[in-house]
Amino acid sequence: MKIIVGGGISGLWLAAELKARNIPCCVIEKNALGQGQTLASQGMIHGGTKYALDGLLTKAASEIGAMPARWQKALKGEGTVDLSHVQLEREDQLLWSVESIAANLLGFFASKAMRSRMERIDPTSEAAFNHPNFKGHLYRLSEPVLKLDTLVHAFAEILDGQVFKAKVTQLLTQDDKVVGVETTAGQIHGDVILTAGEGAEVLLSGLPGGYPAMQRRPLAMAVCKLAQPIPKVFGHQLGSGSKPKLTVSTHEFDGAQYLYLGGQLAEDGVREDDDTVCSNAKRALSEALSWLEPKVESTHVFRINRAEPSTHEGNRPDTAFVSKLNNLIVAWPTKLALAPALADQVLPLFDEKSKPVTLPQWSKAPEGHYPWV
Ligand SMILES: Cc1cc2nc3c(=O)[nH]c(=O)nc-3n(C[C@H](O)[C@H](O)[C@H](O)COP(=O)(O)OP(=O)(O)OC[C@H]3O[C@@H](n4cnc5c(N)ncnc54)[C@H](O)[C@@H]3O)c2cc1C
Repeated sequence: MKIIVGGGISGLWLAAELKARNIPCCVIEKNALGQGQTLASQGMIHGGTKYALDGLLTKAASEIGAMPARWQKALKGEGTVDLSHVQLEREDQLLWSVESIAANLLGFFASKAMRSRMERIDPTSEAAFNHPNFKGHLYRLSEPVLKLDTLVHAFAEILDGQVFKAKVTQLLTQDDKVVGVETTAGQIHGDVILTAGEGAEVLLSGLPGGYPAMQRRPLAMAVCKLAQPIPKVFGHQLGSGSKPKLTVSTHEFDGAQYLYLGGQLAEDGVREDDDTVCSNAKRALSEALSWLEPKVESTHVFRINRAEPSTHEGNRPDTAFVSKLNNLIVAWPTKLALAPALADQVLPLFDEKSKPVTLPQWSKAPEGHYPWV
């Protein structure tokens, strides 16, 4: 039995791959499926282009480059994981600059490999940019944005009967090997795969040294509730740096429209108090989408950590991370988009043939909801 600890995207995708191969597994989730970073994310399946705006194809950009096609296959119901019921917010992402020319994109468009990833489009073809006061440039990336509640729901259906609600309190060991888990619902024995996001750290701290260390990269996401709706925007405003200045996604709850704001604003907000983040968010929004004149009714800040393997200088790791030691697999995808790459690395680490097993009779883990609303 494969015991997957954590029902975020990494645990859910892996469990679906195991199920497709008739390998017995269960997912143990302490709270609700997707309720950690997964439903807090902006659901953007990156192919790495936003990390290569200077035209340099880094390791991160090349490894993640295969992911949009992988997801698109799953979204069409082709491949081992069938996500054909998942809805998209958009089939693509937009990038825009508010100046007439984005200086930082000169390097990007000088590179043929990069040029093939992104096309310049006519602003009149996009409702949010079809305005005489939009003077900048607009680009399209063929990388989808997922409707995350439908993603979690699709996995809950695929894995019906295999996802349980319990908190793993301890990893059980025998002769130095990890042989199972102690949970708030009882014990279970088998091969443990830790896909617990930030929750992995405390579980690993109960074991002797040698296991991978974790780092947190916090974000302060601003959530703006609008008094009047604007045409939906999913994409990145380009600034003068090599990273997007602002990443915008648009959502509707209870008849109201919300803009969820990430990018450099959310990275910088970590060092600021909530009031400062809120006023910076309003200023950033009125610059990024000035022609739409967004009217903000209220703003709040949602703080969350990205949990990843520790890197030398605390930078973003380049790829999905998987390690196996003493029969314990520890994995962090580092991006939602990289969940398939994580499963690809885990699957070859299983050696023995699958045997029939009895699943625990524990209560089912519910589906999570967007934590930032
Ligand atoms: C604000 C934000 C925006 C992002 N936007 C994007 C984006 O647009 N595109 C992209 O590709 N990536 C994005 N990411 C990154 C992406 O969200 C994460 O890399 C990914 O969701 C991590 O998935 P996970 O399954 O490893 O972790 P999580 O989703 O955090 O899941 C871990 C699960 O483990 C459970 N758990 C923890 N401890 C225990 C325990 N002891 N017992 C049982 N269960 C436990 C938790 O409850 C949780 O549900 C974003 C991240 C953030 C924070």
